[in-house]
Amino acid sequence: MRLLLVEDDILLGRGLVAGLSQGGFATDWVQDGEDAEVALETADYDAVVLDLGLPRLDGLSLLRRRRTARDRTPVLVLTARDTIADRISGLDAGGDDYLIKPFDLAELQARLRALIRRSKGVAAPVLVSGRVTLDPAGRNVTLDGLPVSLSNREFAILHDLMQSSGRVLTRQQLEERVYGWSEEIESNTIEVHIHNLRRKLFPEVIRTLRGVGYMVPSSP
Ligand code: CA
Repeated sequence: MRLLLVEDDILLGRGLVAGLSQGGFATDWVQDGEDAEVALETADYDAVVLDLGLPRLDGLSLLRRRRTARDRTPVLVLTARDTIADRISGLDAGGDDYLIKPFDLAELQARLRALIRRSKGVAAPVLVSGRVTLDPAGRNVTLDGLPVSLSNREFAILHDLMQSSGRVLTRQQLEERVYGWSEEIESNTIEVHIHNLRRKLFPEVIRTLRGVGYMVPSSP
């Protein structure tokens, strides 16, 4: 899952990037509204965490612009003050959820998981594909009911494929979803992780469509 964090408070931004990355979100961080707009025009994000008070272009104006441009990326608004007017204007401008600062990192992650689930039309929090289940909140995977230990990257790749089950994701799409800007990507790394997932689960769990990409079949 790939996130865009828009936050001009350096300490909070650093903390959120670290915390969200540990929670399995590849997080790109920008510090003003104009950089956020460029990022949203050039990359594909599963969700945006948006502070409202920002330099250059404020959060509400950015949100209105993106919705006018038919960008439907889910947006969670961070508001500094607990005033009803702030919350209403955030939601009216096209926000999908909000949190009031200071907030709890675990709650932010849970709300983001719910937002992303809803935006992809997945109702159940636990994903199932045949013999495999994946629980994004508990960060665990089972095969035939038994727990399977996966690395963070393996988990992130399987999560993205299961969330899009029945659809093909290209290697580039997987790389974009699993790695943030700040991370180096080796050329064969997605293939290596897919190989390991097949070894730990079973070979047919992920199908390769030669020259196209990878797919987890949807459950019957
Ligand atoms: Ca701010």
